[in-house]
Amino acid sequence: MNCKDLKILLSACANNELSTSELETVNAHLADCSDCKATLSTFQAVRQQISSLQDLSVKFDIKDAVMADIKSSLSDHRLKAGCALHWWQFRLLLLS
Ligand SMILES: [Zn+2]
Repeated sequence: MNCKDLKILLSACANNELSTSELETVNAHLADCSDCKATLSTFQAVRQQISSLQDLSVKFDIKDAVMADIKSSLSDHRLKAGCALHWWQFRLLLLS
């Protein structure tokens, strides 16, 4: 397997998602290829950093802020252009 083909497997390898035969293929290639070994190390480092991230709690309800902004822009827009609502704006207003 060449480097280009193996790189498709390296991300899965970093996530421990390879089958036994795929893992054997990757390990055989890595024994002789420092470039792919470095790529795998990078993928593993990124995976470790991502897994160490904490969940963030939302401090406010984004829906209220978005709806207030839409209603404000609609008021301004209607006053200036006298045009109708876009379908998605109308739908959001119905849902609010
Ligand atoms: Zn390689």
